[in-house]
Parts: sequence; C-alpha cells; structure tokens
Amino acid sequence: MQPNHATQADTQADTQADAQADAQADAAFVAAWLTDATAVTVLTGAGISTESGIPDFRGPQGLWTRDPAAQRLSSLPDYVAEPQLRRRAWQSRRQHPAWSAEPNAGHQALVTLERSGRLRGLLTQNIDGLHQRAGSAPTTVIELHGTIWEVECLGCGDRQPMTTALARVDDGEDDPACLRCGGILKSATVSFGQPLDPDVIRAAERAARECDLFLAVGTSLTVFPAAALPRVAVGNGARLVIVNAEPTSYDGIANAVLREPIGGVLPRLVAGLR
Ligand SMILES: [Zn+2]
Repeated sequence: MQPNHATQADTQADTQADAQADAQADAAFVAAWLTDATAVTVLTGAGISTESGIPDFRGPQGLWTRDPAAQRLSSLPDYVAEPQLRRRAWQSRRQHPAWSAEPNAGHQALVTLERSGRLRGLLTQNIDGLHQRAGSAPTTVIELHGTIWEVECLGCGDRQPMTTALARVDDGEDDPACLRCGGILKSATVSFGQPLDPDVIRAAERAARECDLFLAVGTSLTVFPAAALPRVAVGNGARLVIVNAEPTSYDGIANAVLREPIGGVLPRLVAGLR
C-alpha cells in the first residue's frame, strides 16, 4: 500500500504546484496589462482592510456573522428612534479598530500605482481611511460608503472630525448632539436605510466608464453600487481583473481572477511600474 500512498501524495503535490504556477502566470499577465494601461480604476472592499486587522461584516469571521444584533447599529431608522442604541454605537465607535490599524502592503501598492500616473480613480467600500493614510491622494479616493473619520449631523448636515465627537464621549456625553442645531450626530458613513450620495455614485460610475482596466480588490461585488461598476467598465471595453479570496458573480466575465492574499499579490502586480 505504501507506494500507492506515495503516488497519491506526489499527484497532490503536482496538482498544487500546477495551481501555483498557473496563479503566477495569471499574475504576470495582469502585471503586463497594468504596464500597458493608461487609466486604471480600482475598487476596494473589506478584504484589503482585513489584512490590517479590521474585521469585515459579512465574511465567515465577520462582525454581523458572529453577532447579528450588531447589524442594528448600522440601521438608520433604529439609530434615530433609540437613544440607547446610539449610546451603544458611540461606545462601539470609541473601540473601532480603524483608530489603531495601519495600512498594509496592498494599500501601499495602490499608492505605487497612483504615482506611476495610471490611476484614474480609487473607489472604496471601506470607511477606515486606510488608503489616505497609506498616501493615496484624497482627491483620488472616492469613499462609496462614507468615512468613520468624520461625524455628520442628521439635522443640519454639519460635519466635524470624529476625534472631536469622541473626545466629548470621553468627557461623559454618552450621545453627543450637534453643537449647531442640537440634532443627532452619526459617523459620516452610509447606514442601512440611508441613501448614498448621488454625486459620489456619479463620480464612481464615471471612473468605471473612463478606465481601460478595472481592478476589483477584496470585494464580493454584491452590494450596490459596487456590484454595478464592473459591468459599466466592461461595457466600455475595459479589462476586468478580480483579486478576491472568494468567488464573485463577475468571475465568469473577468479577464483574470487572482485568489492570493492581497498584501502578497498587489505589490508583485505593480513592481514593474514606473
Ligand atoms: Zn446640526
């Protein structure tokens, strides 16, 4: 029986080596496409930030998967109706991992892409500000779901830094109100039941339309408007490249799908860019 076991193990090792070789070949193709591209639009999702220690919501270890009740913190009607929920939300914001997380090699690679002059737009579903902290130009980053680094008044729309609001929470205000109008303050992120900023959606669609390569990184491409953007890009003749651990509904029309960890593969993709 021993020789059979050895053969089976060898075959498995061969298959694994083949898969690795295929993945490297795919990455080499993508690197060449990036070199040739003149306008690259990148869309990032939770997957790029999990490598910085920020948990996602819907993944296997996601916040909402493990604690479905936590999803109510992101429901606008509940937030408006329940002072107790707001107090819980402020405590949750105080402890948000974004305050201590550091950008990773994936974020840095997108800075390299931008400095090569090829980046048309950096669209992100993330609210953690890690792209800007890595060095991406604030004018390049389009935050589809807003940012946790600011608070917005639901009454008058006034915006203030989150640090100012959190300082008030630290000083004993458990649900700080707007200093202008007394309205309810919330992180400047898009909650359930809250419309996305139409200007932001338009800018994202324009960036998708005006690229020759669309790179989707760490996103399952299931949540609007992210779910619509690859189709806009492909419809206008762009190549589509997906870097994501899990399958997406766009894998079938993508020119390449890379399953490797983002912080490992993105630096290799941009290594040849000048
Ligand atoms: Zn206000």
